[in-house]
Amino acid sequence: MPQTNRVAHFIRLTAHRAARGRHLPRRHFHFYKSHVVHSWLRKATAAPLSWRHRHWLLAAILFAAVAVIGLLAPRGANATRDPIASDFITLDLPVPPLPVQTQDTAPPDADIDWRTVSVQPGQTVGAIFHAQGVSGNDLHTLLLDSANKDALVRIHPGEEFAFAHATDGHLTALRFDRDEKTQVTVTFDAKGMHQSTAARDVERRSEVAHGIITDSLFDAANRAGMDDAMVIKLADAFGYDIDFAQDLRPGDSFTVIYDSVWREGEKLRDGDILAAYFVNRGKRFSAIRYTDSRGGTMFYSADGRPLRKSFLRTPVAFTRISSFFSLARLHPILGYTRAHQGVDYAAPTGTPVHAAGDGRIVFRGWQHGYGNVVIIDHGRHFSTLYGHMSRFANERVGQHVSQGQTIGFVGMTGLATGPHLHYEFRVDGVHRNPLTVTLPKPEPLPAAEFARFKRESSPMLAKLDKLDSLQLASAK
Ligand SMILES: [Zn+2]
Repeated sequence: MPQTNRVAHFIRLTAHRAARGRHLPRRHFHFYKSHVVHSWLRKATAAPLSWRHRHWLLAAILFAAVAVIGLLAPRGANATRDPIASDFITLDLPVPPLPVQTQDTAPPDADIDWRTVSVQPGQTVGAIFHAQGVSGNDLHTLLLDSANKDALVRIHPGEEFAFAHATDGHLTALRFDRDEKTQVTVTFDAKGMHQSTAARDVERRSEVAHGIITDSLFDAANRAGMDDAMVIKLADAFGYDIDFAQDLRPGDSFTVIYDSVWREGEKLRDGDILAAYFVNRGKRFSAIRYTDSRGGTMFYSADGRPLRKSFLRTPVAFTRISSFFSLARLHPILGYTRAHQGVDYAAPTGTPVHAAGDGRIVFRGWQHGYGNVVIIDHGRHFSTLYGHMSRFANERVGQHVSQGQTIGFVGMTGLATGPHLHYEFRVDGVHRNPLTVTLPKPEPLPAAEFARFKRESSPMLAKLDKLDSLQLASAK
């Protein structure tokens, strides 16, 4: 599901800046004029070290202490389970789970001294492998195995490869993750190259959180144990119904079931919001993540209504509306009065512009006055236009785009006095005010699908209700 609406962007910006704010002096927040708004999402004052930080610090100190003890201990053969640790650890602290060494899963590893290489921006796998002594032939052979292709061709900064060399410097083995669950080890010897794979134990752990907003959504969610990325996912899920920039009030609350992905005792990444309630100003909203029988995943309300709307109300994270829809306005450049058939959203040059709804690009190019413009046909009589863009994204004429997909970037091409997006919404070719036009309702789940949705969602809803009632009971 494309998670791009104005609110999500707003919150992302806030989260990003708030995260920076922990280390840097606080900077002013310019996305919206109101600083009060900002404070509802994230209390701006820099907090002292949170309890979580202290716990981690303690855990780190404890970990270091154990490590030192381990070094001082007599070096027995294979002494991984020394009794010393049990004599010393008496504190009940939330020590993070230790990363499990994976070496025992692939037999040839026993004596290998691995050196890890992190992918740097702009590096290719060819360059990395060449520097480590992997021949072009061997890389070619690895790439012939189509299962390896994704892991070796589309590499990203920060990804890791491990290499092992003999004392004379020649390469003896290399290792990489083919995917989250599969590790590939390649060994080289006189007879050539051997590839083996080991399955890694990946599991999804379900977690629950409940919070009541006193200062900001982030504060409440962090207190409830959710990290910022998951808070953003929560806000994304409800972003069509709740304006998190303006609607939050103290006393608003949320109950969430989400999951995270763990591998061999280590948290690999955040998972997804599975189901959640959000009570905003006394009104309860629900969001259930559901994958339909065709494989599409979206959030639905408990009664099976898609939360996602057919159109984003605003296709860009704007700083202010610089010109409204009007039948007669004085044109700032032309100097005479004429209709302004769209809305201008001022935003910095380069801000991504999103497709307001699913559709097909029917025009991409230069139009007099509009500069670089994209027009999307959404079917069902609707089309949208995006003007003055500095440049286009990759999508071309005829291509299908999904709601929220980036189609270009804010600029001031054509007749424009400053960087902004000129956005038009047309119904049967007639210009309508994008800010007030009644947006079409999304297609509801068909009957058979709705029955399936009911079956799958009811255990989640029961769990949410139970969590809610426990919270109420404990609050009394
Ligand atoms: Zn305009």
